[in-house]
Amino acid sequence: MSTTETVRLDLGERSYDIHVGAGLLGRAGGLIAPLLRRRRVFIVTDANVAPLYLSALQESLTAAGIEQAAHVLPAGENTKSFSYLEQLLDVLLEARGERSTTLIALGGGVIGDLVGFAAATLLRGVDFIQMPTTLLAQVDSSVGGKTGINTRHGKNLVGAFYQPRLVLADTATLSTLPRREVLAGYAEIAKSGLIDDAAFWSWLEDGAGAAVVALDDAALRQAVVASCRATARVVGADERESGYRALLNLGHTFGHALESETHYGPELLHGEGVAVGMVLAFDLSARLGRIRDIPGGSGWDAARLIDHMGGDKKVEGGTITFVLAHGIGRSSLCREVQAEALTAVLTESITG
Ligand code: NAD
Ligand code: MG
Repeated sequence: MSTTETVRLDLGERSYDIHVGAGLLGRAGGLIAPLLRRRRVFIVTDANVAPLYLSALQESLTAAGIEQAAHVLPAGENTKSFSYLEQLLDVLLEARGERSTTLIALGGGVIGDLVGFAAATLLRGVDFIQMPTTLLAQVDSSVGGKTGINTRHGKNLVGAFYQPRLVLADTATLSTLPRREVLAGYAEIAKSGLIDDAAFWSWLEDGAGAAVVALDDAALRQAVVASCRATARVVGADERESGYRALLNLGHTFGHALESETHYGPELLHGEGVAVGMVLAFDLSARLGRIRDIPGGSGWDAARLIDHMGGDKKVEGGTITFVLAHGIGRSSLCREVQAEALTAVLTESITG
């Protein structure tokens, strides 16, 4: 059996465990059974995840003597809506859901957010369990208790803080996730390092990050655990985002603007928006003099650096030639860089 690690989110009587590891789906029944008020659960998943993982979960629950029903919703962001919330609540009430029923959210952030909100409101609150199957959901959305839906006025505008009883992040389920979704989820992992864990960031940069996106079992588990631990620490200190928890939004203010502009469509995934947003947040930090790109002292001077460039062998006829980028894998020579642009870049970079 492969390794499982556990992170505890401390919130008094609402504390819960986050188990991370490959193969947890097959062990779900045994892990869930002790938490149930009644041996009955209702699984909610989406149409992509159901054919891949629903039966394995059901077998595991059955083996633990847990009675169950399942409801499959369409995949995609549009499912996080009033109409699907209503559909889900109706199905749950028709199935005679009682206060002692536990909901299981099996899927990505869309299913986790919707089912969490349904759990918060059904009969004024029933227990729910997160079983995240995307990297983004495992490192971010399934932990911390933010639940909700989108409305025509915008994303996540209706919801509740409502904590799950347990999070089971089976990293083996990520093997079927489209690569683009893996990379988008990685942005939230990188975020944890950038916020307050330079050692974690270096670990990622020194090769572990590449192993994570290649879905190496050990690296993946370690990265998911580290991100959950960081989130658990922050949420434990500020559950309702009265201050500190907002740090988890690094890159998100820019990211949301980009997501809004692309109408939260398939053109830009949330994690992709966050990745670009973090770059912009660092650019802004540099412009505001919060960080420096050049590890120089305050005695450094843009004009003198430009002088040094003048002595560089790339100078032809008094103009300085730069290699500029148009994108990844696309560069060209430029001989018309304005002195002001150069001075501005250097000045912003060296004044601390
Ligand atoms: P998602 O739930 O739409 O999943 C992405 C796609 O992957 C979907 O098509 C899904 O069907 C598919 N999928 C899921 N698991 C799979 C698997 N194992 N194999 C193959 N395909 C699989 O999107 P997401 O990126 O997981 O979550 C995005 C949502 O999460 C957004 O609505 C966002 O607002 C929300 N979110 C919430 C929080 C929070 O704190 N609650 C934080 C971040 C994001
Ligand atoms: Mg996010």
